[in-house]
Amino acid sequence: MLDYQATADWANARDAADPLRAFRDEFLIPPHEGRDSTYFCGNSLGLQPRAVRDAVNAELDYWGELGVEGHFKGRLPWMDYHEYVRADLAAVVGAQPGEVVAMNTLGVNLHLMMVSFYRPTAERSAILIEGGAFPTDRYAVESQIRFHGFDPATALIELQPDEPNGTTSLAAIERALAEHGSRIALVMLPGVQYRTGQAFDLKAITELGHKHGCTVGFDLAHAVGNLPLQLHDSNADFAIWCSYKYLNGGPGAVGGAFVHERHATAVLPRFAGWWGHDKHTRFQMGPEFQPTPGADGWQLSNPPILALAPMRISLEIFRRAGMAALSEKSRQLTGYLEWLVQTQLADVLDVVTPSDPARRGAQLSIRVVDGRERGRALFEYLMAQGIIGDWREPDVIRISPAPLYNRFADCRAFAEAVRRWKQAG
Ligand SMILES: *Cc1c(COP(=O)(O)O)cnc(C)c1O
Repeated sequence: MLDYQATADWANARDAADPLRAFRDEFLIPPHEGRDSTYFCGNSLGLQPRAVRDAVNAELDYWGELGVEGHFKGRLPWMDYHEYVRADLAAVVGAQPGEVVAMNTLGVNLHLMMVSFYRPTAERSAILIEGGAFPTDRYAVESQIRFHGFDPATALIELQPDEPNGTTSLAAIERALAEHGSRIALVMLPGVQYRTGQAFDLKAITELGHKHGCTVGFDLAHAVGNLPLQLHDSNADFAIWCSYKYLNGGPGAVGGAFVHERHATAVLPRFAGWWGHDKHTRFQMGPEFQPTPGADGWQLSNPPILALAPMRISLEIFRRAGMAALSEKSRQLTGYLEWLVQTQLADVLDVVTPSDPARRGAQLSIRVVDGRERGRALFEYLMAQGIIGDWREPDVIRISPAPLYNRFADCRAFAEAVRRWKQAG
């Protein structure tokens, strides 16, 4: 634990000593009134790496110069483009290379995974999700239940938060499984809860779910590129994520999916497309679908090159920085933000996110104690000062220091701005 101090000198000295400090210069920081804004919204849209523009332009040039030949020529032929991000993506999520694929978007991947891994029967038809799940997760799960002819009123089980700040204990998950486990087909939980910032223990949840005969999948939208994941070792059956949050893949970036190695060659029902067909015989264009072993077998279409080019750049930055080093810095940065709030601003702000670093990532969800009106006023004041977080109704400001481009000085700037606002009444 660092010996945190509130002075500018201390924060600047920490930044100067940060082994990852040079990475900030690789990103475009949105300006505010001629200076860098203080950007804390990597949980919603990560920043653009400077190298992205050239990478996308290079593909546009190949298209212009090579036309269809771009599939086979150029520095990175398009035919295998999703392969170029595989190793780095696998490293970020702690998976074997064959267990991950960059494809589609989160919502699409969630449905594709449920087609294969939600196989309800009359006795076991339910899905366990969290109460307060992100809308897409709830809509997707509910629509799958209906698609199979079951009734969400009985087949959708929502786990209610049992801790004072709206977070959920492992014991609550254990109780839900003890009570309903025999009729649950699928346990579908987040890696990090988007509203509270709580991180879940994927391995422990998977173990519990499997013990009760359930399939276990995770939505890692807020976890990927944020926590040091060990997806393979977690033993989860599948996971899905988007790449525009901490992964800095760009707005609407290509999402990802993980399918555990033990399902690599399993015969599973799936919605198939030609890009999931065994790549060695894909171009024989035969009528019979033979899936490529591993996560690749769930691909539908040939990959969107212009959307994967930014991902390649961004994942390469993750490779150079390393998830372990990023995670170490992330704990210090978020710890500093929490310390500033608790020691300087406890009369106006209350941190909802668990304080145990093992139960959270970068994000702190901060409740404004005076309620919605004052909270909204504070949020707007911060935005006007160039301090960019986001607002979640009714009274929560989410602030996420991202270790690739945020600094200790940024956390201090947030605290100073709240203090000025407080003094102004
Ligand atoms: C951001 C987010 C999504 C977004 O889904 P898209 O399909 O990428 O639009 C879904 N689920 C969770 C939990 C999220 O945080």
